[in-house]
Amino acid sequence: MSQATAPASSVLEAEVVIVGAGPCGLFQVFELGLLGIGAHIVDSLAHPGGQCAELYPEKPIYDIPALPVCGAQELVDRLMQQIRPFNPRFHLGQEVTELARREDGRFTLRTATGTTFNTGAVVIAAGVGSFQPRRIGLPGAEAFEGEHIRYRVRDAHLLHGKRLVVFGGGDSALDWAIELAPKAASLALVHRRPDFRGAPASVLKMRELVEAGRMRHVEGTPHALNVEGGEFRGVTVKGPDGSLIGLESDHLLVFFGLHPKLGPIAEWGLELEKKALKVDTGKFQTSVPGIHAVGDINTYPGKKKLILSGFHEAALAAFAIQHHLYPQKKQFLQYTTTSPLMQKRLGVTES
Ligand SMILES: Cc1cc2nc3c(=O)[nH]c(=O)nc-3n(C[C@H](O)[C@H](O)[C@H](O)COP(=O)(O)OP(=O)(O)OC[C@H]3O[C@@H](n4cnc5c(N)ncnc54)[C@H](O)[C@@H]3O)c2cc1C
Repeated sequence: MSQATAPASSVLEAEVVIVGAGPCGLFQVFELGLLGIGAHIVDSLAHPGGQCAELYPEKPIYDIPALPVCGAQELVDRLMQQIRPFNPRFHLGQEVTELARREDGRFTLRTATGTTFNTGAVVIAAGVGSFQPRRIGLPGAEAFEGEHIRYRVRDAHLLHGKRLVVFGGGDSALDWAIELAPKAASLALVHRRPDFRGAPASVLKMRELVEAGRMRHVEGTPHALNVEGGEFRGVTVKGPDGSLIGLESDHLLVFFGLHPKLGPIAEWGLELEKKALKVDTGKFQTSVPGIHAVGDINTYPGKKKLILSGFHEAALAAFAIQHHLYPQKKQFLQYTTTSPLMQKRLGVTES
């Protein structure tokens, strides 16, 4: 499976682009692949799996047909394995911001990082929307976001030798504090409570680093940015007793979790009902032919936001997309158990 990063200027030609790599977007790759249709898949998160991977990776799921129990991350791993024969191209860490119909009936789709597609069809599998980092919420923060205030770490090397303040009490905050403490000029981990939500082993490791004098642990919440003559100098933290603690720093790494946002999808001119995309139940097509929606993002009479509903929707959407792209082609229902063509596509037979 390839991870693609296209130069901003190039346009990628695609049969189908899937917006969202949650369980339903991943299964959409499979259903399209069985019909011989290739897909690109884009997600604003840095990894596939949507809510399963982001919100409850360790929890068991009990209502996936024929899997009496399956961990949420395990389900994602199994889906990734299942779609491997179709070699989808992944574009991760990129929010899809623009979708427009072209004059020739195809679609232009663009991501926030400049990847542009010219695609025959689109499947929106965007769940509850793209996950956005919860921001630090201090006055004047916006001007420093991206450089001095970061919500994700893309290139850890840029932070080596710098004075860092890490905010948060979950796994991301702990993992980055542990990873960067030995390489930073200084590092303070700020969390509002003495207890941490992250893995016990990580909490232990962090405490060892504190004891060894490699990093500080400060109990408190962000109070104000320290800026002098427009230059970023650090942050002031308010302790539980109301005391103010100034922390000189080059970068703040803020890991306050993620929240979903429908965001740009609401502006693509598609019919919405209660923040969900209206679809028909034969093709799972939105109000625009060629743009389909599966999984939690869609709505229709009787809709249930369950993974298995999304899987069914993806199967029907794939047939509809095949007809949209290749209207002359006769459609047959083939079984994977007996179809030599499907088995060839799956890579399980030579014929
Ligand atoms: C705690 C919890 C437990 C659950 N347990 C169960 C269960 O037991 N059984 C069950 O069936 N369901 C369960 N669910 C619900 C299930 O997780 C969802 O139904 C399922 O994840 C929906 O899949 P999806 O692919 O439609 O969307 P999601 O999983 O939400 O994935 C959508 C993806 O699209 C991406 N995205 C959105 N907008 C954009 C954009 N503009 N550009 C790029 N990417 C974008 C998001 O980043 C996300 O990764 C549970 C949910 C929660 C929160």
